[in-house]
Amino acid sequence: MDKTLIIFKPDCMKKKLMGSVLSRFEAAGFSVAGCKMMELDSAVLREHYAHIADKPFFPEIESFMASEPVVAMILEGENVIDTVRELLGPTDSTKAPAGTIRGDYGETVMINVVHASDSPEAAKAEIKRFFSESDFIK
Ligand code: ADP
Repeated sequence: MDKTLIIFKPDCMKKKLMGSVLSRFEAAGFSVAGCKMMELDSAVLREHYAHIADKPFFPEIESFMASEPVVAMILEGENVIDTVRELLGPTDSTKAPAGTIRGDYGETVMINVVHASDSPEAAKAEIKRFFSESDFIK
């Protein structure tokens, strides 16, 4: 079964939107296959956002993502990676259509509710980054 890694970002946690957002994923047929609350430190953020770590806006992202504990979750289901990205809408919340998660709940290009893996390779690496074998129910 396909798996993806999502992170309920600090804005989502602060506004108590996790339930509403998760409902959309569950309504689309996806199941929770792992769940963990955590604080993101600089080391893990630099690894997770390595593709944008040299951008001028990276320090702002780093402090935003570390501003509140977040929830990392593995979602499972057919075609989950692409479908979750479609449900989120584009990165920039101001350009995300109404009816998408970022369009309905996001604020800016940075403050955009949820992270989700963008490919099978990324999902595999991100699940390994945030979860260990002992986190899973046997
Ligand atoms: P996505 O999260 O949609 O896969 P990216 O991987 O390009 O998008 O960027 C990672 C995160 O960095 C975004 O979700 C957003 O929070 C932040 N970000 C991206 N571009 C910008 C930008 N131009 N200014 C501020 N923050 C940004």
